[in-house]
Amino acid sequence: MEEYDLIIIGTGAGGGTLLHKLKDSGKKILILERGGYLPREKANWDSKEVFQKERYHTKEVWKTKEGKDLHPGTGYWVGGNTKVYGAALFRLRERDFEEIQHEGGISPAWPLKYADYEPYYTAAEKLYWVHGKMGIDPTEPFRTQDYFYPPVSHEPRIQELHDALVKDGHQPFNMPVAIKLNESDMLNSPCIRCNTCDGYPCMIHAKSDADINCVRPSLGNDNVTLLINAKAERLVTAADGKTIDYIEVSYNDELIHIKAPIIVVACGAINSAALLLKSANDQHPNGLANGSGLLGRNFMKHNSAAMLGISMKENHTHFQKTLAVNDYYFGDKDFPYPMGHVQLLGKSDKGQIRPDAPFFTPGVVLSEMASHSIDWWFTGEDLPDPNNRVEVIEGQIHLDYTENNRKGFDRLIDTWKEVLAKIDTRHVFVPHDIYLSQDIPLAGVAHQVGTAKFGNDPQTSVLDINCKSHEIDNLYVVDGSFFPSIGAVNPSLTIMANALRVGDHLIERMKSVS
Ligand SMILES: Cc1cc2nc3c(=O)[nH]c(=O)nc-3n(C[C@H](O)[C@H](O)[C@H](O)COP(=O)(O)OP(=O)(O)OC[C@H]3O[C@@H](n4cnc5c(N)ncnc54)[C@H](O)[C@@H]3O)c2cc1C
Ligand code: SF4
Repeated sequence: MEEYDLIIIGTGAGGGTLLHKLKDSGKKILILERGGYLPREKANWDSKEVFQKERYHTKEVWKTKEGKDLHPGTGYWVGGNTKVYGAALFRLRERDFEEIQHEGGISPAWPLKYADYEPYYTAAEKLYWVHGKMGIDPTEPFRTQDYFYPPVSHEPRIQELHDALVKDGHQPFNMPVAIKLNESDMLNSPCIRCNTCDGYPCMIHAKSDADINCVRPSLGNDNVTLLINAKAERLVTAADGKTIDYIEVSYNDELIHIKAPIIVVACGAINSAALLLKSANDQHPNGLANGSGLLGRNFMKHNSAAMLGISMKENHTHFQKTLAVNDYYFGDKDFPYPMGHVQLLGKSDKGQIRPDAPFFTPGVVLSEMASHSIDWWFTGEDLPDPNNRVEVIEGQIHLDYTENNRKGFDRLIDTWKEVLAKIDTRHVFVPHDIYLSQDIPLAGVAHQVGTAKFGNDPQTSVLDINCKSHEIDNLYVVDGSFFPSIGAVNPSLTIMANALRVGDHLIERMKSVS
């Protein structure tokens, strides 16, 4: 049986970032990934392949609470879902770490506060080359320094939109995005500022994802080993049940056993919970790390919607993900509860609109719609509900999810339609589900978090504040699972910052046993 100092399972925003943090520790580290490298191919930038044929999604089938098949919009690759993400990397707001009263209930406080995360947010922004500008987002939390890279400029149609919003009293700002764009020297810029970024893999590796920015740069170190197409099937505890003894891994059609004194699960919030639930044994009959009974529960994914704002004006924008608005994040004068966040999506084309359109809509109409649209993405906070949960039944993932806290979110969308109608009277809105399959919206699990929340009390949390299981001393979960609440901005920067924070703890812990 192979032995390592530490094993990380999963190479996404959590696992990949943690690997990068630990790579120079001198410790022997193995990172496992159930998928392979996402191929570089022309299909990377083909909207029909990516959105209609779901080329990069798993073919795995899950079940809904009604027992229907669920085809999840998620992929298994080195880099995890960051391979296709929109790279909008936001910090949570300071108040997101506190208890907040929403119209639909309470968003609970975190055991750590924004100040605990601030240095790690800064480090994560540096690691992922986030481009942005401080001082222009009205809800921005305090920062010890500006972004390391300048904001991505708006193209003319978006600048026009920006100016109209400002004239109408709004505070739009340059969205923080993790792309390797050098606008002052486009000839040598890794990023070419294209229209196939948000939701697509980057064919030329200019998007900052966990594969390109973290995993590959770590593999030059002799102490780091990556095993691809290696799926962790079960964690097996020692006889006393207090530590993980070894991992069972499917690799090359065999079940192999691998050992390390520290095991980090980073499979994404749904698969991490599933792995621990599947690893149930006599000492842990309800799954590992599940003394609280909360493992797999409190699953959150955001209330989210994509909308196409069609105008008489043409929109020739290539890279559209440059503008966001947080004016309604915590509500407005007539609605004293949080509503959510507004941002631009990548520019859609007819291949993306096709899944939502009636089957008889001619391609030319879709092209016209796409060339006249500005594409919006709204996210609102869904609240943790223990009934929203991941289960594993006869080896298959079941996702039980009922929407909540919709009022503020619906109000956000209605408000935004009014704002756009005011600034451009030639606007028409069409609902547009880019990330969510139309008939099974639950398939859109892009922002999955919360299935193993962290906290101080073993009765009410799965992990302690170092993201270590309360019950199993060498088991950590370092991905989106630990969130006690989701906030309304995109989750990945918080997952990355948290991985860097837990990395510091692990470096100290490994020092003490050397
Ligand atoms: C289309 C799309 C757009 C998005 N846009 C944004 C955005 O703009 N901004 C943002 O902040 N977030 C965005 N997200 C969300 C973002 O991708 C996730 O928040 C982030 O990747 C989650 O990180 P993670 O580490 O929890 O999981 P993942 O990144 O999914 O990583 C989990 C890894 O574990 C591997 N794995 C799973 N099970 C096993 C197993 N049993 N054995 C071995 N390996 C395993 C998986 O293959 C994967 O590599 C987007 C997501 C999608 C799908
Ligand atoms: S915009 Fe830049 S980072 Fe995004 S896919 Fe295009 S080249 Fe890659």
